[in-house]
Amino acid sequence: MLQDTFGRTIDYIRVSVTKQCNFRCQYCMPETPMDFFEDENYIPLENVLAFLKVAIDEGIKKIRITGGEPLLRKDLCAFIASIHQYAPEVQIALTTNAFLLKKYAASLKDSGLGRINISLDSLQAHRVLKISKKDALGAILEGIEEAQNVGLKIKLNMVPLKGINDDEIIAMLEFAKSKGILLRYIEYMENTHAKAQLKGLQEADILNVIAQKYTFTLVEKENFGPAKLYQTQDGYAFGIIAPHNDDFCKSCNRIRLTAEGMICPCLYYQNAIDSKKAMLKGDPKEMKKVLHESVTNKPEKNQWNQEVMPEEISARAFYVTGG
Ligand code: SAM
Ligand code: SF4
Repeated sequence: MLQDTFGRTIDYIRVSVTKQCNFRCQYCMPETPMDFFEDENYIPLENVLAFLKVAIDEGIKKIRITGGEPLLRKDLCAFIASIHQYAPEVQIALTTNAFLLKKYAASLKDSGLGRINISLDSLQAHRVLKISKKDALGAILEGIEEAQNVGLKIKLNMVPLKGINDDEIIAMLEFAKSKGILLRYIEYMENTHAKAQLKGLQEADILNVIAQKYTFTLVEKENFGPAKLYQTQDGYAFGIIAPHNDDFCKSCNRIRLTAEGMICPCLYYQNAIDSKKAMLKGDPKEMKKVLHESVTNKPEKNQWNQEVMPEEISARAFYVTGG
């Protein structure tokens, strides 16, 4: 079992398989050139698989594949199938921008993927283009439909931004509701890679907007997840992920592995353990050692509310950690 120094059991790992992306979201990597290509430092997926087998043997029960955009990896379905074959009981999930999802949904499902989180910030084509620099709305909607058709469980993630898409908070809720999908609003997390001057809405702002049309109640915290769940009077549940608050740190059960082999214990904590050497060597004992070190390295809470220069706490790129 993996237990940190604060008594939390760690049974969830998020695995970034690439830093590259076909989008350039304003809150994530707006200034990175589209031809950015730098994958020589990536850990081969067969080594990542060997590491994940060790992690599963040590108690990992849920694996989320993320990026960058994970569907850019041509070997992704084979990777997922190998994890599933090793441990069919482990829950495998994916976070994607869904641009390529229509093409891959059926193969992903066949490989053993159970769940998909899809990032969708607007239902207006020109806004999706403005936010992500990709004319992508049509492809995303087709991807959602196909994923539902093949039986993948879906959640939608929206990052509400002032003056950009905050007038679509209710439209997104009604869209998700019409599809029978859980929508989670994610507070924009300031970071040095995002477009300057971007302003996000926080939980209270988002709830105020929804309250203009719906009555709702707080249901519960998602099981070991960072989202709080609310339910409208007519029974639709939606979530809010509010990292500016550290009360979800108490039940944090996750670590993050980057495509280059760094294990990050928390999104807003700079220290990370470099597992590259152990992973490339492929020695299970060494991989087990770095895994345990990375769990011991987990801080009690994220550093949002500490008096640290914002630049210091937010230098980590979302397209590196996988969000
Ligand atoms: N490319 C995939 C996608 O967009 O779903 C997976 C990687 S992306 C880094 C994972 C999640 O992080 C997405 O839901 C995205 O909206 C979220 N994200 C990225 N930058 C963020 C930021 N600055 N604040 C809040 N969420 C962010
Ligand atoms: Fe790409 Fe996802 Fe970052 Fe957008 S949020 S730029 S889709 S990695």
